[in-house]
Amino acid sequence: MTNKYGDEMATKLSYYEDTYRFEDRAIINATGIDEIGHFILLDQTIFYPQGGGQPSDTGTVKANDILIPIHFVKSIDDEVRHYTEKDYSNCVGVEALCSINPEARIKHAKLHTSGHLISTVVEKLYPQLQAIKGHHFPDQCYVEFSSCSDYLDDFSLQLVQNELEKIIQQDCTTSNIEVSGAQLKELCPNLPYSIPSNKQMRVTRIGDFPYTPCGGTHVKSLKELEGLEITKHKIKGKSLKISYRI
Ligand SMILES: [Zn+2]
Repeated sequence: MTNKYGDEMATKLSYYEDTYRFEDRAIINATGIDEIGHFILLDQTIFYPQGGGQPSDTGTVKANDILIPIHFVKSIDDEVRHYTEKDYSNCVGVEALCSINPEARIKHAKLHTSGHLISTVVEKLYPQLQAIKGHHFPDQCYVEFSSCSDYLDDFSLQLVQNELEKIIQQDCTTSNIEVSGAQLKELCPNLPYSIPSNKQMRVTRIGDFPYTPCGGTHVKSLKELEGLEITKHKIKGKSLKISYRI
């Protein structure tokens, strides 16, 4: 199993397969402790580890009659670490029932997918703009763009909002595929950052819009993004920041 950069992962990333899988079984492979706290490692996980501007899932891991609350998840050194309040080394080897908070998962997937949609729409309407950063935490969501031109005078927020609503009503689906580094270069020739070219990577796209590398969770249908609203935008020099909520 590889992450979006193609690195081998000790944990199979089951959340890649289905955003709406809120429960699954997994084996507790190990426990550990780092500067964040105690953690457990699973052979596979439906818990999204915080990253890519998206918060982690929270939930529980039930090992026989022991209920382990998971308050934070992070991918470190190719391990997905599920953080716990105390040591659970007595549970190593147990096949456990993992449950994530479904409301938070869907909320995060909606906000994250909205970031993709805003990037896609803005880049289509204004080809001189390129999305360079996204943050999708509830109540803090924004996408930042960089312009290759000095002129952002023609930018119209109303035009962006209208286009967003139009595409949401078209009800496109999102799709993910794994590609080689060479395929990635073909699919995403103008990435604003570099990615190793010798590894498999996960890319995602909305409808038949261009692909972008991403390891996050996405809603299946854009209809789920009804109510998406741009709250403000700020132009500073060659950069544009668009804030939003849903
Ligand atoms: Zn994504």
